[in-house]
Amino acid sequence: MKLVFRYRVKSLTGLLNTQARMVNFVWNYCNDRQKDALRFNRHWHTGFDLIKLTTGCSKELGLHSGTVNDVCQQYAKSRSQSHRRYLRYRGRKSLGWVPIKGRELKREGNAFRFAGHTFRVFYSRPLPDGKILDGTNFSRDRRGNWFLNVVLELASAPARAPKRGVGIDLGLKDFVTLSNGEKIAAQHIYREAEATLAAAPRARKTRRVKAIHATIANRRSDFLHKLSTRIVRDFGYIVVGNVNAAALAKTRMAKSVLDAGWSPLRIQLTYKAVKHGVWFEVVDERFTTQVCSNCGAMPDSRPKGIADLGVREWRCSDCGAELDRDLNAALNILRRGRATLVAGISGFLAGGGVNLCETGLESEFCRSNQQA
Ligand SMILES: [Zn+2]
Repeated sequence: MKLVFRYRVKSLTGLLNTQARMVNFVWNYCNDRQKDALRFNRHWHTGFDLIKLTTGCSKELGLHSGTVNDVCQQYAKSRSQSHRRYLRYRGRKSLGWVPIKGRELKREGNAFRFAGHTFRVFYSRPLPDGKILDGTNFSRDRRGNWFLNVVLELASAPARAPKRGVGIDLGLKDFVTLSNGEKIAAQHIYREAEATLAAAPRARKTRRVKAIHATIANRRSDFLHKLSTRIVRDFGYIVVGNVNAAALAKTRMAKSVLDAGWSPLRIQLTYKAVKHGVWFEVVDERFTTQVCSNCGAMPDSRPKGIADLGVREWRCSDCGAELDRDLNAALNILRRGRATLVAGISGFLAGGGVNLCETGLESEFCRSNQQA
C-alpha cells in the first residue's frame, strides 16, 4: 500500500520559495501552449508533448529536470481530469508546490538529500523502510510553512484474526457511538473559534486569521487521527454506516456536519485498517435507527423520520427492550457487517485461520456450525 509521510522542512525554505516560483513559470508555460493549441486549432498537448517542449530549460530555471517533467505531466493530467480547455495560471497566491521524482530523494539520517541539497526536517516520526515513489513533493501551506510529503510503498500487514468486532454509528450529538456502548462526544472546534474568527478580519489581522484556521484544522485532524488509530488498534474488524456527508452538508446542519468530519474519519479507518491488517466494511445504514437490535423487528414505537430526530431513547413495543438510539444503530450496523463478514471468514477458516467460535464471535455461522 501507498502511504504519505509528511515532515515540516526547517532548512532551505528560501530555495524552495524560488523553486516554487519556477514551477509556476513552467506550469504557466504549459497553460500558454494549451491556449495556443486552442487558438490555432491544433491537437492538445499531452504530458509527453509538454516534456519535449520544455527539454533543456531545467538548468536555466534552477530546477531538477525530474521536477520540470512532473509539472508537465501534472498539468496534462489536471487538465484532462478537470474537463476544462485550459487551467488557471499559478501565481503568488497559489500554494507553493515542488514535485520531485521518488528516486531522486535520498535518506540521510534524519534529513533528506535532493538535487545536491540537504533538507533538514522536523523528524516527527521515523520513516519506515520502503521504496520512495513518484508523487513525492514539497508543498507550502497557507501560513508559508514548507512540508516534505514522502510517498512510500509499504508492505501491508498480515490479516489479524477478527477477534473483537465493533459497529460505529456516526452522529451529530455524539460524534461516534461504538457498539460496545462507548460514546465519544462531538467536538465543536469551529463553533468555539467562531467568535475570535469573526473579530480578526475586522481588525485586519490576516496573519491571525490564517493562524486560527490552521489551529482549527490541526485540532480536528489530531482528534480524528487519535480516534481512528485507537479503534483500529482495539478491534479486529470494524463496520461503519454509509452516512452521506456530502448530501447533509447542503442542509441546515451543514456547519455541524463539516465540523464533525465523518468523511476524513472513514478514510482514515479505511487505510489504517489495511495498515494494521484489520477487516473494515462500510454497510448501508438505512433503517438502522428504526430496527430493534434486540429482536430485529421494526416495531410501531420506533423513531420515524426527521420529526423523531430528537428521540434519544425508546422502548421496543414488540420485545420490550429499552433502547438507546445511537447504541441501537451501532449494534444494527455491526450485525449487518457480520452477515457479509461470515461469508468472507468461512474462506479464511478453510485456509487454516482461527476457529471463529473460540474467538467469542457469536454469529449465525457459529451456531449453525455447532449444530452440524
Ligand atoms: Zn425488539
